[in-house]
Amino acid sequence: MIIVLKRDATDAQIDHVVKKVKDLGLSVHLSKGSERSIIGAIGDEAVLTSTPLDAFPGVEKVMPILKPYKLVSRDFQKEDSVIDIKGVKVGGKQVQVISGPCSIENKSILLEVAKEVKKSGATLLRGGAFKPRTSPYDFQGLGEEGLKYLREVGDETGMPVVTELMDPRDIDLICRYADVIQIGARNMQNFRLLKEVGKTDKAILLKRGLSATIKEFLMSAEYIASMGNRNIILCERGIRTYETATRNTLDLSAIPVLRELCHLPIVVDPSHAVGRWDLVAPMAKAAIAAGADGLMIETHANPEEALCDGAQSLKPNKFDRLMGELRRVAEAVDRTL
Ligand code: PEP
Ligand code: MN
Repeated sequence: MIIVLKRDATDAQIDHVVKKVKDLGLSVHLSKGSERSIIGAIGDEAVLTSTPLDAFPGVEKVMPILKPYKLVSRDFQKEDSVIDIKGVKVGGKQVQVISGPCSIENKSILLEVAKEVKKSGATLLRGGAFKPRTSPYDFQGLGEEGLKYLREVGDETGMPVVTELMDPRDIDLICRYADVIQIGARNMQNFRLLKEVGKTDKAILLKRGLSATIKEFLMSAEYIASMGNRNIILCERGIRTYETATRNTLDLSAIPVLRELCHLPIVVDPSHAVGRWDLVAPMAKAAIAAGADGLMIETHANPEEALCDGAQSLKPNKFDRLMGELRRVAEAVDRTL
């Protein structure tokens, strides 16, 4: 249920409505906008039908939210959310590019690629320290050692850092080092994990599950938001289809669909979508043209030697060329990069 308050509603009137909703056993999410404030009443809406909240002073109207996701829905918040990560704003006019290697291998390789991508215009640095590998015999990541390198390199190059959390037991560790917590595709429906990151104040990059529908994707975002953290960035990274020519199939239409249903920023990861470095550029351009707020692109100074996802990683010179092309696409859709 959304309770829209009058423009001139006083704090006392708002407090009175909030108290009533809480007394009825629902949780309250107050959103104070520049124009007007709204209250999201989340829980069993049936209890509200017998209470004429629209008759309360300061209340303009009361509307049910029919969608199963509430806090992340456009019904709840009309304006696009902008997530501020140490001054890097995801969801505003500027398209933000997250780049770096799939996994952190050692400090010098990370520093080399970080300096290059920063020079080309990337604004956030990525790197995995805990890797969700299909085989238990593949490189699993450096753990805390990797997180230390990521933090140091991020600070040295002036880029906030993004890294994946796979296990709730590592949440304090990850929070000590990361600016953005990535929830990987394989964990999109790990609901305990979603609730835990929902209790933090970190920005969360939520990747779409391999076979998740848009509705399931948004329900996972709702899990995070329901725990209090609304600093969520959605990431389309390709879904599994019958097609085997590419690693996954990039669902470009997810961008306008999510934009219509939800107010959260949308980032596209063409690297994991296609799985081949030569297909990353066209999909990256298409994503910006379709309205993405950002991209996540894997880069490596020496992809042939990469311990993870070398086949889809761009060398710094190719990344630099792509950034030049992306700037022109961004301009064409009235964005900057
Ligand atoms: C990654 O970003 O390195 C990753 C493992 O991505 P995904 O969860 O989308 O497969
Ligand atoms: Mn990867």
